[in-house]
Amino acid sequence: MSGNESRLQAIYQITNREDTPVKMPKKLKKIWAEDVFNLAKMEELLSKKAFKGMKKTIATGEALDPAIADVVAAAMKDWAIAKGAKFFSHIFYPMTNATAEKHDGFIVTNPEGNAITEFTGSLLIKGEPDGSSFPNGGLRATNAARGHTAWDPTSPAYLMQTANGPTLMIPSVFLSWTGEALDKKIPLLRSNAAMNEAAQKVLKLMGEKEISTLNSSCGAEQEYFLVDENFAAMRPDLLLAGRTLFGAPSAKGQEFDDHYFGAIPARVQVFMQDVEDILYKLGIPAKTHHNEVAPGQFEIAPYYEAANVAADHQQLLMTVLKSTAKKHGFICLLHEKPFAGINGSGKHVNWSVGNSTQGNLLDPGNTPHDNLNFLLFCGAVIRGVHKFGPLLRAVIASAGNDHRLGANEAPPAILSVYLGDQLEKIFNDIKEGKLTGSEGGGIMDLGLAQILNFAKDPGDRNRTSPFAFTGNRFEFRAVGSAQSVAGPLIAMNTMLADSLNWIAVELEEALKNGSQEEAVVAVLQKLINKHGQAVFGGDGYSAEWHKEAVDERGLKNLPTTADALPVLDEDYVKDLFSDMGVLSNEELASRYAVYSEQYILSIEMEAKLVIDMAKTSIYPAATRYLGDLASAIAVAKDTGVDLSTTTVEKVAELISAMMASVDDLIDALAQHDFDSIEAHMQHCANNIRSAMDDVRASADALEVEVADDMWPLPKYQEMLFIK
Ligand code: ADP
Ligand code: MG
Repeated sequence: MSGNESRLQAIYQITNREDTPVKMPKKLKKIWAEDVFNLAKMEELLSKKAFKGMKKTIATGEALDPAIADVVAAAMKDWAIAKGAKFFSHIFYPMTNATAEKHDGFIVTNPEGNAITEFTGSLLIKGEPDGSSFPNGGLRATNAARGHTAWDPTSPAYLMQTANGPTLMIPSVFLSWTGEALDKKIPLLRSNAAMNEAAQKVLKLMGEKEISTLNSSCGAEQEYFLVDENFAAMRPDLLLAGRTLFGAPSAKGQEFDDHYFGAIPARVQVFMQDVEDILYKLGIPAKTHHNEVAPGQFEIAPYYEAANVAADHQQLLMTVLKSTAKKHGFICLLHEKPFAGINGSGKHVNWSVGNSTQGNLLDPGNTPHDNLNFLLFCGAVIRGVHKFGPLLRAVIASAGNDHRLGANEAPPAILSVYLGDQLEKIFNDIKEGKLTGSEGGGIMDLGLAQILNFAKDPGDRNRTSPFAFTGNRFEFRAVGSAQSVAGPLIAMNTMLADSLNWIAVELEEALKNGSQEEAVVAVLQKLINKHGQAVFGGDGYSAEWHKEAVDERGLKNLPTTADALPVLDEDYVKDLFSDMGVLSNEELASRYAVYSEQYILSIEMEAKLVIDMAKTSIYPAATRYLGDLASAIAVAKDTGVDLSTTTVEKVAELISAMMASVDDLIDALAQHDFDSIEAHMQHCANNIRSAMDDVRASADALEVEVADDMWPLPKYQEMLFIK
C-alpha cells in the first residue's frame, strides 16, 4: 500500500468508526471507592483495636504493630477474594517515572491437593520482586541484587480491574536489602517527616499548644493529548517516543483560541466520563476536565489529597488514562511536547502543608496570630525557592520537559516565586522596615485588613511564573506532564523543612528580645533581605527578565536537563538531603546516575528513530516523487513543452540536505568517548538534538512539496483535528 492509501484508510476508519457502546454510568455514591480497601471498609471489617492502629498510622505515619498487620492482611484478603481477586501485587515506584508490579497468587495447595488461599501479615508487609533489572544507579551490586518491597499502610490498597477479574494492589516502598531507598516513595515519606519535625518546632515557638502531625497536600492538574490509534499506528515516533519527530505545521493550529474550554468532542467526552468512573471506583476524586489550549489537548484534575496518596493516585491516573484511551480507539500522549508549534503538556502541582489542629498553614488565617504563622510558612517557601531554585529545576528535568521550559508557553527554566500584589507588598513592607517602624516604635497590626483580602482573589495569577502563590497553596507549574509528582514534592517538602529549621533557630533567638509579633517580623525581615531576590511578579517570558534574573539577581538559568541535573551533585544539595534525612549521599548519587542515563537513552532512542524514519519512510517517498516529477518533465519536453524545474530542483536539494543531516546525526550518535556523564549529556542536549532538528527541517519542508498521495506519515492537521 502506498503512503496515502494507508493514510486514507486510517481516515476512513476513524470517520466511520462505531462509537464505543455507552454503558449508563452508575450513581457516584454507588461506585465511589468501591474497589478501595479504605478506612470506611476497615472500620467495617477490622477489630476495633486493629482499626484504631491503622487509623493512627495513617494520620501520623508511625509504624504499625505487626500483630495488627496480620489482622489487616486477613481482612484485606477476604475482601479482595469476595470481589473475585485471585492475585495480589505490591505496586511500587522505581526511580524512573513508571510504576512496577509483580503479581502473586493467593493460592497455596495443602497436602491433600486442595487449593487454599493464604495471605499473612508478613506477605502483606514484605514482597521480594526480582527487581534486579530496575535502574538503581549503582546502589545494589548484582550479587546482592534483590531489592524488596514493603507495604505502605498510609496509601490504601485497591483492586485493579481487568476483563477477567480484579487483582489486589498494595502500594509499597522499594528498598535494597541494606535499607537504601530504590524508589520515589521512601524519600517522599521521609521528606514529609522532615517537614513535620521542622514545622512542629516553629509552631511550638509560636505558642501553639496542641499540634497534630503535619502533612503535605498535592492536587495535580494533568494535561494530555488524544490521537486516534489508526494514525498512531502509522507513526513509529508516536508509538516509541510518544511525540512526533517529524511533521509540518498544520495550516490551522491554536491561533484561533477556539479549543481552550471549548465544547468537548462527543467521543472525547465519552472517554473522559469512562475514565472518571474508573477513577471513582479507585477512590480518586477526579474533579474537573476540559479542553486545553492546543487542538487535541485536554486536562483532568483530581481534588487534592495527602501528598503520598496523591502521588500514588497520580501514577494510577496516568495508567488509567492510557488504558482507557485504548478502549476508545485513542492513544493518550502524556509527553511534554507531542507536536511542535503548539502548546505542550504540563502538570501543575498544587502544594500546601497543614494539619488538623492549625489547618492549612499556607492559608491566611482569620486572626492576626494565624497570619503570623502563615507569613512564616510563606517566608519559608520563598527562602526555599531562592536557596534551592536550581534543585527545583533539576527535579523537573527530562528530555521531554526540555521542549517546554523556556519555550514561552510554559514557565521559564529560571525559578522565581510569584506572590501576587498584596502579599508581595506585605513582604516589601517587612523588608523596608515599615511594619516595625510605626510611630509608637511598635509593630503595625498584621490584621485582617492587611492580609486577608488576597485569599479571595486568586484571579490575577501570573501564568508566566513557574512557582506561584494561588491563595492558599503554591502551584509548581513547570512540572512535566509525564513526570511523577513525587520528585517535585520531595524537593518542596525538603526545602521547606530546611527553611523552617532555619526559622526556628532565628525565631528562638528573636523571641528573647521582643514580643512574638516583633520576633516574627524581625525574622522575616532578615529572611526577605537575603532571599527576596526570588520574588518576581512580572512577565517571566520576557528577555528583560532573563537578563535581570541572571545578571542582577544571581538566579540560575538552566535551559536543558544537561545543565540542570548536575545540580544533584552539588554539595549544598547533597547536604540538604542528608541533613534532612531524606536521601543519603549515596541515594542521591544513584538518582543522579539514573536520571542522567534516562536522559541520554531517551535522546539517543529518538535520534535512532529520526535516522530510521528519514531513511526508510521519508527518503523513499520523496525520491519516488522526484522520479515522477522528472519523468513528467521529460514527457512534456518530448511534446515540446518546457515545464518549470523549480519544484524538482527544490525537492532534490531538500532530499540531499536531509540525507546530509542524517549522516551528521549518525556521526554524532556514534561518538562514545566522553570524559564524564556531564559531557555526554551536553553532547545529547546540543549536538544530537541540533542534528535531529536539521533532519527534521528538511523533512518538514519536503512534506509540503511532495504529492499528498505519496506522503507516508499522518499529517498534523489529520492527527490534531480528526476525532
Ligand atoms: P486552576 O485554576 O489552577 O485550574 P483549580 O481550582 O482547578 O485551579 O485547582 C487546581 C488543583 O489545586 C486541584 O487539584 C485542587 O484540588 C488543588 N488544590 C486546591 N486547594 C489546595 C490546597 N490547599 N492544597 C493543595 N492543592 C489544592
Ligand atoms: Mg492550575
